[in-house]
Amino acid sequence: MHELSITQSILNIALETAEHEGAKKVNKIKITLGEMTGCVPQYIQEYFDIVSENTIAHGAALVFKRIPAIAKCLDCGGETHLIRFRFRCDHCGSQKLTIVSGKEFLVESIDIDD
Ligand SMILES: [Zn+2]
Repeated sequence: MHELSITQSILNIALETAEHEGAKKVNKIKITLGEMTGCVPQYIQEYFDIVSENTIAHGAALVFKRIPAIAKCLDCGGETHLIRFRFRCDHCGSQKLTIVSGKEFLVESIDIDD
């Protein structure tokens, strides 16, 4: 996933919600973002400032809740925090891992002025 398409989704969700609520301005957007998405919050905020121009969401602060990339080992049952491209169990060295968390991308809530 790329930051730009994610940013566009965030903006669309925020604007739809704001319009539905009859809001005049979007102040803050809370986003849950898993590490597996590979997206950097800082880039998303920078893109957001650009794509939100001339909308009521311009200037809104994006608040990120990061979800760590966790995998469970199918051999020993241990859990490993995946760091970058290392896909190996911390406990037994097995590469038979299944992803438990870290793929999340969710707009949790938006803070608006009406
Ligand atoms: Zn293991």
